Amino acid sequence: MAKLKVKINDPFWSKYDALVRDVVIPYQRDVLNDNVADAEPSSAIRNFRIAAGEEVGEYYGMVFQDSDVAKWLEAVAYSLENHPNPELEKEADEIIDLIGRAQQPDGYLNTYFIINGLDKRWTNLHECHELYCAGHMIEAAVAYYEATGKRKLLDIVCKFADHMDSVFGPEEGKIKGYPGHQEIELALVKLYRVTGNKRYLNLAKYFLDERGKKPYFFDIEWEKRGKKEFWPGHRSRGPEYEQSHLPVREQTEAVGHAVRAVYMYSAMVDVAMETGDEELLQACRRLWNNIVYKRMYITGAIGSQVHGESFTFDYDLPNDTVYAETCAAIGLVFFANRMLQAEPKSQYADVMERALYNGVISGMSLDGKRFFYVNPLEVDPEACEKNGNMEHVKPVRQKWFACACCPPNVARLLASLGHYIYGVKDDTIYTHLYIGSSTELDMGGTRIGITQNTNYPWDGKVVITINLDVSKELGLGVRIPGWCNEAKVSVNGEQVDLAKVTVDGYAIIKRNWQDGDKVELDLPMKPVRMRANPLVKADIGKVAIQNGPIVYCLEEVDNGPNLHTIVLPKEAELEVSYRKDLLGGVNVIRAQGEKAMIGEWGSALYKANTSIEYQSIKLTFIPYYAWVNREPGEMLVWIREK
Ligand code: ZN
Repeated sequence: MAKLKVKINDPFWSKYDALVRDVVIPYQRDVLNDNVADAEPSSAIRNFRIAAGEEVGEYYGMVFQDSDVAKWLEAVAYSLENHPNPELEKEADEIIDLIGRAQQPDGYLNTYFIINGLDKRWTNLHECHELYCAGHMIEAAVAYYEATGKRKLLDIVCKFADHMDSVFGPEEGKIKGYPGHQEIELALVKLYRVTGNKRYLNLAKYFLDERGKKPYFFDIEWEKRGKKEFWPGHRSRGPEYEQSHLPVREQTEAVGHAVRAVYMYSAMVDVAMETGDEELLQACRRLWNNIVYKRMYITGAIGSQVHGESFTFDYDLPNDTVYAETCAAIGLVFFANRMLQAEPKSQYADVMERALYNGVISGMSLDGKRFFYVNPLEVDPEACEKNGNMEHVKPVRQKWFACACCPPNVARLLASLGHYIYGVKDDTIYTHLYIGSSTELDMGGTRIGITQNTNYPWDGKVVITINLDVSKELGLGVRIPGWCNEAKVSVNGEQVDLAKVTVDGYAIIKRNWQDGDKVELDLPMKPVRMRANPLVKADIGKVAIQNGPIVYCLEEVDNGPNLHTIVLPKEAELEVSYRKDLLGGVNVIRAQGEKAMIGEWGSALYKANTSIEYQSIKLTFIPYYAWVNREPGEMLVWIREK
């Protein structure tokens, strides 16, 4: 399916769309150009100037600094798709020209190695992210071409991909390797889809199938370069860290670095779809199930530990020492989106929605200026400061990181959110997300306009209007969210019998559609107490509050300190009210809770034969994504139940 152009006009998401356009993209451009005085220096654009021979100096920044420029360009492309901006486009064109001037005659493009010695290129795929940066540049090029029709960056990356194709592969004399950080694989599939050049798809498949073969390629590579490491200690993480422990088709559990994992699984779905490889798709289903049934936080976050920024084991989901990188939740959205394309089942869209409304947007402040890398579900600022196990957890969002993967990743996802709303399979259009928007699709030569109106996620009413020049027989699949038990759907006021038409969580409405037909969804939202499987040690005896797709939390600013001493009685009612003035407008949930009376304890640390006394307290829950946009303090998602 060609990329849909979807214009978002939504009370919730339009704010993000505008933030990305007006704040994040200009701010990130300034960062990349080193024009923000109090942020970490980036040098990303300067590296390209040095590589192009237009400035003298040394490479600065992370070895993957180029990817920041690529992700910015990709976000710009999506933004230009719906919001033409000649000035921004000109700036992007100038950067693309610079990238072109930095490219080597043989197509190679990576400023770190151009500046530090081309003789070292492709000698450390394990640690040096060349293929990762290449992948991001390809994604940017495809997006920029699709948004503007301009081929320059696309031609640059095709030349680079041709170069890579001449370097890697099964043939004699080529490197039989694969990247330490996956990303090139999914990018090459995108490049294949837009150019039709099958070599790019084959190279993506090659990188996937080469991974996990014995002997371990990264050992061979390491010996070859004189046993030198780029990141001291990197090798001690072992092959699970970058999912090279087994051939990808044999993998059953999500292990290792969470971002790498979900980028790889995304590419596996892509390749499976393009080649009809059922065995590969089956591996994706297994890995998906392992994540969402055993290794995912309720916020859609993944990655339970800081060590290796990685998955750990089934049901190990600590809330305070968690990693939950913003990029990993974004990667889970990518994975979910691709599984949906392969097989439209609402379980994928449910997870995509969970990650989007919680673990992804928690990564950015409501003013678009600060970002989380780690997204904890429980925070005590003092513990972050004094307990080394939580050193990676920041109690407030940061301006810009030396390792700046997350902010531009948020920007490119939010700027392309329109691409995640619909899907087409055979003669059915699927609505995966409920976001106020309008789009036009071409279904077998017939133009179909679809408009959504909704105040989601604060209200579960959605109106979908169909616009057509001529009537058309087709299916419209509307997702019945997993959180909703009392969904009602009507077409032009007539109730649809959901039991009869629901397939894999989508109500499939097949009819001869007329111009102006209206589908109305009523998805009643009421706050619920979510419980975790009892095997999740961190959450037993606790509940998390969820309303519709939104997960809630307690903050110190509303509920006082020592949030861990709060309990929610089983009978306490959860009252919802919309607060226009708060946090950009949110549904707040209030409940009568209890809090331990600490004063009773005096100076004792332990006491025998005593119980904790509680006093009543009115609790205020706010959406998790919006935490710490007021005064910093403690935060808690899972609360004890009594
Ligand atoms: Zn990140």
